[in-house]
This record gives sequence, structure tokens and C-alpha cells, in this order.
Amino acid sequence: MQIISTVAELRSALAPHRLAGRRIGFVPTMGFLHAGHVSLIEASVRACDVTVVSIFVNPTQFGPKEDLSKYPRDVARDEAACRNAGADIIFLPSVEEIYPPGFQTYVEPGSLAAPLCGAFRPGHFRGVATVVAKLFNMVQPHATYFGAKDFQQCAVVRQMIVDLNLPIEFHALQTVRESDGLAMSSRNAYLSVPDRARALSISQGLLAAQALHRQGERSSARLLDAARAHLDVDSLQYLELVDSVTLVAVGETLDGPAAMCIAAFIGPTRLIDNAMLQ
Ligand code: AMP
Repeated sequence: MQIISTVAELRSALAPHRLAGRRIGFVPTMGFLHAGHVSLIEASVRACDVTVVSIFVNPTQFGPKEDLSKYPRDVARDEAACRNAGADIIFLPSVEEIYPPGFQTYVEPGSLAAPLCGAFRPGHFRGVATVVAKLFNMVQPHATYFGAKDFQQCAVVRQMIVDLNLPIEFHALQTVRESDGLAMSSRNAYLSVPDRARALSISQGLLAAQALHRQGERSSARLLDAARAHLDVDSLQYLELVDSVTLVAVGETLDGPAAMCIAAFIGPTRLIDNAMLQ
């Protein structure tokens, strides 16, 4: 496995693979890898000849009051996780490599970036779309693997691929959870033991709504109430039912596939999760 930190080296490492017609898979991450990230890397390794994992904590997707400087990092552990999962290249660029002096061109997503996290994290998806577009241009993968835990991110990136005519297969993989149901997240590392216990109420709320939906309940209010009844969080940023394709809020009654999406603070830690109701 190669560890590469510049775009020039990345391009020359990939050139012979491209020339030989090998299929390149790409998994963008912010590091502090867990089993969720590993599932994406393994999916790429299964389906592609060469797998590139990027580890880059992207400053443009963090707001001024967010956790950029405190974001957890452990490069040695990440290297071991990538190697074990069968990755071929880790791309570990500096901030200056990605945003050199004079950088000024951004990718502006449209309405898919407006609700949910977009409403509470202004500029977040502009930062995500920009860095993902740049990384796509650096790696030029045939396929890319994202996690459905970041449901809105998947929608924004999938649409960007269509809108910008990027010749990349997009794969969204299901959320990997701890054995008790908590969605794996690098940010779970921030949680104290009591907060970790309360964080579980998020997935439990979603599960309750999913169970009720399976029993035939189609009232948005009752489905949302079922989830809300479980929540033990410090502040709820949003709990919403949206159309799973357009991300437009569902009306009084569900009449098609929907996603229940949540963002909540447990102490200072912001967690997101979602469940498909279909
Ligand atoms: P991050 O490092 O948080 O930027 O995430 C990198 C990629 O891993 C994104 O596509 C995430 O959606 C995905 N990911 C994060 N957590 C999980 C999880 N629990 N299960 C599956 N994929 C995940």
C-alpha cells in the first residue's frame, strides 16, 4: 500500500493502472476510520482492481463554530485499517495541497443541499461538493463508495455527478452500526459513557418509527411522534420526514418512499442518522 500526499504523485501512481485498463475505486473520508469506512473500502476492493482511500479533514465544509480543529485524527490506526481492508493507495494531502493560495472556485449544489443539515450548516454542502469534485478530478475513479448514514451528502454528490457529467459510478452503502444500533461515526469518540448511552436513543427512535411504518402507519405526525418519544438528546436540530429522492418534506401522509432524518446534539457532539421508510 502506498501513502501519497501530493496530487502529482497520485497521478503518476495511478497512470500505469489507467493505461492497463484497471478499474479504479475511490473512497473519500476524513479519517479516524471505523467499520463503516472499512465497509466502503472493502466494497471497492471487491469490485475494483485498485482502491484509493483519501483522508482529508476538509476545512471548507466546517462552519466557524464547528469542530474542525478538534476533529479526531489517528493516521497510524487509519493506515492499518486501510491495509487490512485491502486498499492500494492512501491519499493524505495537506490543506495547502488541496487549497493552494489563490484558490477561489467552488461547486454550488442546488435544492438538495437546502433542507436538513444544509439549513443548519450553511456552506457545508458547498464545501463537500467542492472537495469531492476536486478529489474526483485528482483520482479520476471509475466508481466511488459513500455511506448512506450521510443521506443528504449522498443525494448531493449523486446529483453533482449527473449535473457535471462525471463518468463515475456512485454507490451508497448501508449504515454500519454498533451491535446495539448506534450508527458508527468518527464523532462517537467524543461521547462520554453516559452520553454514549443517551446517543442510542437516536437509532432507537428511528427503529420505532420504522416498526410503526411496517405495521401500516402512514401519518407523518404519528411516525415522527413515535421517534420523538424515544429521544434523550440535549437539543434536537431536526427530525424530519422527507421524500427519499427529492428531499422535500413529506406532507401529512406518506404516499411513497421516505427517509426519516435526524440531527441532534448530545452534549457538544452533533450526531446524525436516518432510516428509510419504504
Ligand atoms: P467521513 O469520514 O465522516 O467524512 O465519512 C467518509 C465516508 O464514510 C462517507 O461516505 C460516510 O457516509 C461514510 N460513513 C461514515 N459513517 C458510516 C457508517 N456508520 N456506515 C457506513 N458508512 C459510513
